Amino acid sequence: MTTRTAVITGASSGIGAATARQLAEAGFRVVLTARRQDRIESLANELTEAGHEAVAQVLDVTDRAAVDAFAAGLDRCDVLFNNAGGALGTDPVAHADPADWRRMYEVNVLGVLHMTQALLPALATSPGGEGTVVVLSSTAGHGTYEGGSGYAAAKHGAHVLAETLRLELCGQPVRVIEIAPGMVRTEEFALTRFRGDRAKADKVYEGVAEPLTAEDVADTVGWAVTRPPHVNVDLLVVRPRAQASNTKVHREG
Ligand code: NDP
Repeated sequence: MTTRTAVITGASSGIGAATARQLAEAGFRVVLTARRQDRIESLANELTEAGHEAVAQVLDVTDRAAVDAFAAGLDRCDVLFNNAGGALGTDPVAHADPADWRRMYEVNVLGVLHMTQALLPALATSPGGEGTVVVLSSTAGHGTYEGGSGYAAAKHGAHVLAETLRLELCGQPVRVIEIAPGMVRTEEFALTRFRGDRAKADKVYEGVAEPLTAEDVADTVGWAVTRPPHVNVDLLVVRPRAQASNTKVHREG
């Protein structure tokens, strides 16, 4: 395999799908993974028809055996984009369901751990020393807000994983990049968080002139991974102009 290969988790929607398009445009062969087969296959077809190299493989990042089997079948990996994740609920600490916390920890933290451990050998042997691990955390990985405890705890975990890994890999030809977005309006993120309640999901973005789009975040990922290999963008925080912090958002009307 001669083409630089990027593995993307959670490529079936939102930021993952947009980044798959971005990296394919940048000349990467993209390996699209997620649990929903129809979606990643349709995206792989779209990219292939546009002249790019793309393959789809169903993968649940919380399933360690499946992750190991996936890695064993991969002939090359230059970029790992750890994007699969999300939030469940906005309950206060006093009433939050431990099952939600466990699920968020499994996908946002252990999913990143599984993928990173399984693909590190391939990343470390990327030709030209171009191995790159990207962790898509969140501004919730750097601060919290009321109702955000379980998600913020998990994303803080993802942040710590990235920061520790960068220290531990220092001297090896693998860089570790963390992208931490603020409010991004994707089709499913808030809908998943509010368990399918469209009205509650829409309220998250109410009056916000221009939340970030999945393409805005994909653009930052594409930029960071296409810097020369000696340039490590440690942490990139990106928010919409209308959001000055996790708790200060300008809403019109
Ligand atoms: P989406 O809900 O659109 O995307 C989440 C993706 O993760 C889906 O493709 C989903 O695919 C995948 N996924 C979920 N669970 C698993 C699993 N167990 N194994 C494999 N894939 C899984 O949301 P976004 O695109 O908005 O979010 C992408 C990432 O960005 C997440 O980590 C999120 O926490 C983070 N983020 C989002 C922000 C926002 O405001 N939208 C802000 C900051 C960070 P499938 O269901 O097919 O498996």
